[in-house]
Amino acid sequence: MTTVDLPLLPLGRGTDLNSERGVECPGDLPTASDPDLVARARAAKEALGDKVFVLGHHYQRDEVIAFADVTGDSFKLARDAAARPDAEYIVFCGVHFMAESADILTGPDQQVVLPDLAAGCSMADMARLTQVEMAWQAMAEAGVAQSVVPVTYMNSSADIKAFCGRNGGVVCTSSNAEVALTWAFEQKPDAKVLFLPDQHLGRNTAVLQMGLSLDDCVVWDPHRPNGGLTADQLRAAKMILWKGHCSVHGRFSPDVVDELRAEVPGINVLVHPECQHEVVLKADLVGSTEFIIKTIEAAPAGSAWAIGTELNLVKRLAADHPDKRIVFLDKTVCYCSTMNRIDLPHLVWALESLVAGTVVNRIEVDPETERWALVALERMLALPGKTARD
Ligand code: SF4
Repeated sequence: MTTVDLPLLPLGRGTDLNSERGVECPGDLPTASDPDLVARARAAKEALGDKVFVLGHHYQRDEVIAFADVTGDSFKLARDAAARPDAEYIVFCGVHFMAESADILTGPDQQVVLPDLAAGCSMADMARLTQVEMAWQAMAEAGVAQSVVPVTYMNSSADIKAFCGRNGGVVCTSSNAEVALTWAFEQKPDAKVLFLPDQHLGRNTAVLQMGLSLDDCVVWDPHRPNGGLTADQLRAAKMILWKGHCSVHGRFSPDVVDELRAEVPGINVLVHPECQHEVVLKADLVGSTEFIIKTIEAAPAGSAWAIGTELNLVKRLAADHPDKRIVFLDKTVCYCSTMNRIDLPHLVWALESLVAGTVVNRIEVDPETERWALVALERMLALPGKTARD
């Protein structure tokens, strides 16, 4: 059987800035108990002034969000970074693939810093370029590759975005997946979509928004020969879903939805489309992180909401909306462990290093990968409009 270069410890030691694999922080971190951390972060930011632009993803800790110039989801933050060409340093408080996208969309003189290189994304790591190229080859041998349009979720490494750019495909976000899939199906007669790397976003969008059936979807398992699919299954499929998922959103279960509805009559269930199909089917509303935030902002006082997304964001929404009852859609604590790697000590270390003239943890996509990833990103930017759930 053919082997792939899948690391045994995807977030272990070692240096590989071109993958989602994390590495050790090379500097002297301040201790988490340092009582001066907040003052140090403030002083470093003030010293850098307009030279630095700090981006904070919605799933970041409060202690980090407090120093963000702007907050948002991964795509909004990449665009925000691109809109600040004067900022010499972009400090990205998020995960590796997001910092890559910011590097691709910003100018060559701007340097993107990820405060902790171990902040990868388990979902992005589930689709590695070698695996995707092997799948593409297998699809060619099955006689279907010429009909396949690859579509990758923003939550993927730069080389997967570049693969899509090179092969006539596009990037999508959780806000515009339906528009991107509609575009993809129009690209070729009898088009099929290879959807990377999140099977749940692909399935939920195809079935719930585009009217495809579950039977139109097959799952490509990169750990099985030929993805675990026969040539006939590939030929019959409309959606070839990569077997990847978010380890945070994949945890929510339909049973908990039932339990919460029994316990809190009238509660509204609001989930992200990275959740399993069975959970989304039971929810009242499904949409991107930005959609979740806007929905809660617009909700009437006294309304009750169970939210299925990352816990830092749900806690922040609950704190910001004390007039509404907001609960988490899981029985256990469910943070994104890699997002949480960015903490105040790492942020202070990154900012103070910049003040001292040293750029640490720079994320730099190689020019060839950047070129093709940009093709796929620009195809997305040219897509018509946005969905109602932007
Ligand atoms: S929440 Fe999920 S998709 Fe987002 S960074 Fe964490 S593991 Fe990746």
